[in-house]
Amino acid sequence: MTRDEIMALVRTVPDFPDAGILFRDITTLLAHPQGFSACIAQMAQAVSPRTTAIAGIEARGFILGAALAAHLHLGFIPLRKAGKLPVPVIGADYTLEYGQARIEIDPTLLTAGEHVLLVDDLIATGGTAIAAAGLLRAAGAVCEAALFVIDLPDLGGMDRLAEQGVAGKALLE
Ligand code: 5GP
Repeated sequence: MTRDEIMALVRTVPDFPDAGILFRDITTLLAHPQGFSACIAQMAQAVSPRTTAIAGIEARGFILGAALAAHLHLGFIPLRKAGKLPVPVIGADYTLEYGQARIEIDPTLLTAGEHVLLVDDLIATGGTAIAAAGLLRAAGAVCEAALFVIDLPDLGGMDRLAEQGVAGKALLE
């Protein structure tokens, strides 16, 4: 399956979550048996052999990151929304387009210095991915790569992420 064919499986929903926003909805891609596995296989090709674990951002980053981790026989580390983990956590607050958000990690899931690849479905302004990379680093990991299904290049997230020393790649623009 080509990248164009995978892209065609992403649904664009106007006016969600607010008027004027075009939401890229990957549920149509996930529901497609060949599309989902082709997406994971293509993402796998972009993963450096130095990677020792995959971290995914709740919630869509869990679906993609966990599938990618299992495909590559790597462990999966969840970056969860606030208040969900049952153990002591470290957290990062960040600003979304509308309002504030917080993600948390159990730092005992990581070994100091291990190379963690960050995964999410989409990068827009980069705020979420920058917070996630900072959190992985605060937990002792090396985070210098991130992988997304979709980049919205007009919003500049990849460049902002690169300024933080994280090389981002996306399957689709
Ligand atoms: P950023 O922090 O880069 O501005 O926004 C990216 C985060 O918001 C990601 O966690 C992503 O899942 C979510 N997001 C923002 N816009 C969209 C969109 O159009 N479609 C999807 N699927 N997620 C979005």
